[in-house]
Amino acid sequence: MTATAPITQDVHTIPRKLADGPVNLVGLTRDAMRDALIGAGTPEKQAKMRVNQIWQWIYHWGVRDFAEMTNLSKDFRALLAEKFVISLPEVVTRQVSTDGTRKYLVRIAGGHEVEVVYIPETDRGTLCVSSQVGCTLTCSFCHTGTQKLVRNLTAGEIVGQVMLARDDLDEWHTPGQGTGDNGPRLVSNIVLMGMGEPLYNFENVRDAMKIAMDGEGLALSRRRITLSTSGVVPEIARTAQEIGCQLAVSFHATTDDVRDRLVPINKRWNIAALLDVLREYPKVSNSERITFEYVMLDGVNDSDDDARRLIKLIDGIPAKINLIPFNEWPGAPYKRSSNNRIKAFADIIYKAGYASPIRKPRGEDIMAACGQLKSETERARKSRKQIEAETGL
Ligand code: SAH
Ligand code: SF4
Repeated sequence: MTATAPITQDVHTIPRKLADGPVNLVGLTRDAMRDALIGAGTPEKQAKMRVNQIWQWIYHWGVRDFAEMTNLSKDFRALLAEKFVISLPEVVTRQVSTDGTRKYLVRIAGGHEVEVVYIPETDRGTLCVSSQVGCTLTCSFCHTGTQKLVRNLTAGEIVGQVMLARDDLDEWHTPGQGTGDNGPRLVSNIVLMGMGEPLYNFENVRDAMKIAMDGEGLALSRRRITLSTSGVVPEIARTAQEIGCQLAVSFHATTDDVRDRLVPINKRWNIAALLDVLREYPKVSNSERITFEYVMLDGVNDSDDDARRLIKLIDGIPAKINLIPFNEWPGAPYKRSSNNRIKAFADIIYKAGYASPIRKPRGEDIMAACGQLKSETERARKSRKQIEAETGL
């Protein structure tokens, strides 16, 4: 930054720099982008309009090259190219399952890798997005939980996952053609259910989702975005106020004793504390109902008594219970409940008046199901290493 282009004092979000290079515009809030433009020499009076224009190019038209931003002057485009980049995480591999599920292995700054999964259905297309590399929590049935937290993803890396899926699916607006207006969108829903605990990376997740929900950004309704948390109680209230998306909670047990073992954050905020904050969520966020995720573990949490206790606990909360057949991973200390057991459990809940869908594992042939993501990456790494050792490369 030169002396003639001072950085303003009132930055709302510190622009994220790529190492020492130019600032990445992807993931900046509107305010932060405005500050960054002013810092680069844009006259203050023009800054808001410039943000609108650049924002549209990036998030509506999917443009990556400043030269294509034809409603900006040549000089301004040159300035942008000098000071900024429009950069997404890099797709390392893309696998497509026989059921149409796509799994992307994505590399972020520092050489770390996360996975992103696209799940097409007849009435929607859901993108499962990661928020951290690894996780600080240690849920005993989750493979990501056996990984140390490497780092939080930036807002740009989070919203960038949605953008790279749009790239792959060729889903950007083209002048005179449109996309979402002409039919169902390919990426119509986002679930924050990939690697990591989104509420331990609150600001970045919030900024990314604001861009996803912005009418001139990726323009997805907040009703089509679901954030899944293991139960970070203080941040749940903040999510209602500051994001307002749909909420899913990894509930998984009906007694503190069992939940302590499965979801250890329960020792900090127990079932009663979690339920208290969940009761408030729909009112504050004006959302319809909360999804209770419940992984079905053979002989651990899957009895008829568990089902009945669950109904009692959630009494009065508008809810849907999503039953997830456990996805096994090498060395996992649990087994998946039998299909009959899962059905019996679902029936009890359904008869009490709650929707109780059983989550169908998708993309199993490419290891894209819940809780399987990281294991495949590790295996791939290992075999690469083995190959290197064998070939002496
Ligand atoms: N950290 C967040 C979001 C990521 S996990 C959370 O815990 O909610 C997304 C969902 O997959 C959670 O409900 C999680 O409990 C579940 N999950 C993790 N490992 C699993 C496995 N091996 N089989 C089935 N579901 C799993
Ligand atoms: Fe982390 Fe969620 Fe896995 Fe628990 S289930 S270890 S919170 S990613």
